[in-house]
Formats: sequence, structure tokens, C-alpha cells
Amino acid sequence: MKFGGTSVEDATAIDRVASIVKARLSEHPFVVVSAMAKVTDQLLAMAAAAGRGEREQALDICRSLRERHYTTAGELLGTGLHTDLHSELGAEFDSLDELLRGIAAVGELTPRTSDYVVSFGERLSSMIATPAFLARDIPATLIDARQLIITDTQHSRAVPQVDEINDRLDRIRPLIEKGRVPIMGGFIGATREGVPTTIGRGGSDFSAALVGAGLNAERIEIWTDVDGMKTTDPRICADARRIKVISFEEAAELAYFGAKVLHPATVLPAVEKNIPVLVLNSRNPDNQGTRILSRTPRSRSLFKAIAAKNRITIIEIVAARMLMAHGFLAKVFEIFARHRCAVDVVSTSEVSISLTVDSNEAIPQIAADLEPLAFVKYSGRKAIVCMVGENIRETAGVAAQVFDAIRDINVRMISQGASEINLTFVIDEADVPEAVRRLHARFFAEVDPEVFD
Ligand code: ADP
Ligand code: ASP
Ligand code: MG
Repeated sequence: MKFGGTSVEDATAIDRVASIVKARLSEHPFVVVSAMAKVTDQLLAMAAAAGRGEREQALDICRSLRERHYTTAGELLGTGLHTDLHSELGAEFDSLDELLRGIAAVGELTPRTSDYVVSFGERLSSMIATPAFLARDIPATLIDARQLIITDTQHSRAVPQVDEINDRLDRIRPLIEKGRVPIMGGFIGATREGVPTTIGRGGSDFSAALVGAGLNAERIEIWTDVDGMKTTDPRICADARRIKVISFEEAAELAYFGAKVLHPATVLPAVEKNIPVLVLNSRNPDNQGTRILSRTPRSRSLFKAIAAKNRITIIEIVAARMLMAHGFLAKVFEIFARHRCAVDVVSTSEVSISLTVDSNEAIPQIAADLEPLAFVKYSGRKAIVCMVGENIRETAGVAAQVFDAIRDINVRMISQGASEINLTFVIDEADVPEAVRRLHARFFAEVDPEVFD
């Protein structure tokens, strides 16, 4: 059972989480919690401020974070009674202050130090949730993610070492069998040497999937603040519908292309073991949410959902004669790989390649490295819109219907995925809300009631 930031945002939310877990005790849950909502952003902000030498600003943000955690702990456990927790939290914040002073003094923030700062978020939320669970008769045992989620050393996107994690999970299994409820902060891990790492933003879902797969769980529950996966981001389209059931393949496409509700990597460990993933709402726990299964019944609707991913840059590579030469694409992609920059959408013509990447600081350098091979142009503020559905495969005229709905919006790239379950295109970021609303109105006004709510 993984509870996201909004599900543990304050005392009321954590109290709700405790009741949800309590109702599952007979099923032997393992609980993963995110940092309280927005905390990771604030930790990153204070680390960045300290890195710029802005010591007071960093300490100010840290002070407000300290207050928020003290208040939450106090409300959950009663002030005065649990001075132990307050002094434990106090010690954590003292060392965080110390760390920020150190970063500010040096005036440099390394990826390793940034991960260390960020790791406080999940450590603090799990430190508070554990005694709160105990006080509500849940036999919780705090697990330090740094002892369990072993990763490589690529800070901020460290790769979990599955065999090592599984070995360590074997040691936790007897605890669960005895009826204890392990509770662990998501998103963070550590190298074999014990240096804290993080596994990518939104990574608590991934932590939960690693644990679920390692323990051969019956299911993985991702608890969030909406009634499951929706036909599109409910913040863009208020009438987005709940998807009752979706395939792993479809969910992975959606997660990858911006449906923030689920971390893309989550589905992998679960798929491999055929473990169903449920997306559920901690504010509305009776709702059935979304079931993600390896095989789903056929739906009568063309699409399952529309996802949009902002902050995309298009890179155009024009090479009059070289493109057809063998090995050219390999050289191009080697440059992206060297910068550890993932390419999402690609389209080629006789003389050019257009591709998209997440906007990042490495782009000017990548362009410079490409210059000897070809003429390079890049433009930011683009967005990928991805329409997902297994029925795309067998339906004629899909593209015509989609592009007719947005015929006056400039489409920069089009790709009908190799997986044939997505139709993906690139537009200006500014056009996303309008495009998504129109497509949603066109394709989700009438839907298969077996699949959608
Ligand atoms: P958590 O803190 O639980 O991890 P996130 O903010 O990461 O929560 O993800 C939940 C949010 O994802 C929702 O509040 C919703 O606004 C957003 N979201 C984007 N696309 C979708 C979608 N297709 N279905 C459901 N939620 C979506
Ligand atoms: N707290 C981390 C983040 O905000 C991980 C997560 O919430 O999944 O990215
Ligand atoms: Mg999330």
C-alpha cells in the first residue's frame, strides 16, 4: 500500500491512512509513504538556495518545514505525551540546518548532497506515521529505506538493484508473517556504501512496486487524491471519467507520457510478476478506483485516455547527404545517450530527423555535439499529447478523427507508436488545454460503461 504526498499531507490525512491500513490488517500490508505534499519541492528549493549561498533563505524554508512536521506530529499524537518523537524530529531538523549551512558555506550543491537533503522528506513522513499507526493499534515497524532499497550511484535517478533488494526483503518477510506492518519512506534508497540516493521524481510508486514484486504481493495499491486513473488529467478536464480497468501496456504509455498519477517504472516490476496494480483514492476509499491488469477485457471505446506532457523540446537535425548513410542515426543517438538524455518521439524524412526530449540544461551542449554531423535547431515549450487505447490497432481512420477534432491547432510531429496502442503528437504547450478538452469531448462523451464510470 503506497500513500502519495497528498494522502499524508497533514494529521487528518495521516489519520485517514491509518484507518485504511487498519481495515487491511488481516491481509498483511507493507506500507510505503511519500513525503508530505510539496515537501520534496521545498527541500529542493532550500538546497538550491543554500547552493547559491543564500543561507538565510534556505534556513527560512527549513524552519517552516520544521513547524509543519511538529504540528502534524502534535495533532496526531498529542503534544507533550510523545516528546520522544518531537526530539527525534528536532534532531533531524537540526542536522538538516547544519547541512544547509555547510552547503551555503561551500556555495556548491552536488547531486549527492542534493539527494541527501531530499531524502529527509520521506524519512520524516515515515517517522511520524509510524508512532501514529502504533497509537491507532496498528503494529507498525519503521523500515529505513536506505537499508532496503539498494541502488547504484546515479544520484537523483539511481537505479534500484533488484537482486539485492529482494535478498533484503527476504529478511523482512518473517516480520510480516508475525503480523507486523512494515512502514517505509518511498522514493529514497542508498548505495551499498550507505550513501542516500533518490530514484526519480514521483518515485514512491516505484518503491512500492519493487517491494510488492519482491514480496510476491497479491496486489499493489497506489493510494492518491483522485478516484483512480482518469480519461485525462482532471485538472485540465473537470469531466474526466474514471477508468475502471486498463491494461499494463496502456497504463505504461499513459504514465510515460505525463499522466502524473502513476510513475512509469511502477508498472514494470508488477508486470513481470503479473501482480495487479490498483489506483485508489485515500479521500474516498470505498471507490473501486482503477485496476491495472496484464490482460483486460475488450472495450467498445476507441481510446482509454489522453495524456499530455509539457516541458518538451523538439530538436531538428538536418543533414543533406549524411542521413541515408548507414550509422548516422547511431551516431546521433550515441550523443543523446552520452548526455543521459532520453528521446521520446522520433520522426524522420529523407534529410532530417525530428525528435523530442524533456527540456533540460544539457540541450545546448547536445546541439553543440551534433553540429559536426548536421545542422541543428531546437525549440522549447512544446508538449506531447498521447492518445492511448488497444483498439487503435484494429480501427481504420483513427488519425483522421483525431486531427479533425483539432484541425486548427498546429501539429509539429506525429507518431503512431510502434506498440500501436498510442497515437502521439507534439503541439505548443499553450495549445494543450484546448486540444485536450476538444479531444476529450470528441471521444469520451459516450463510452463503454464496462470500462468507464
Ligand atoms: P501522489 O501525491 O498521490 O503521488 P500525484 O500528484 O503524483 O499524487 O498524482 C495524482 C495527480 O495526478 C492527480 O491529482 C491528478 O491531478 C494528476 N493526474 C494527471 N493525469 C491523470 C489521469 N489521467 N488520471 C488521474 N490523475 C491524473
Ligand atoms: N516525494 C517524491 C516526489 O515528490 C516522491 C513521490 O512523491 O513519489 O517526487
Ligand atoms: Mg506521484
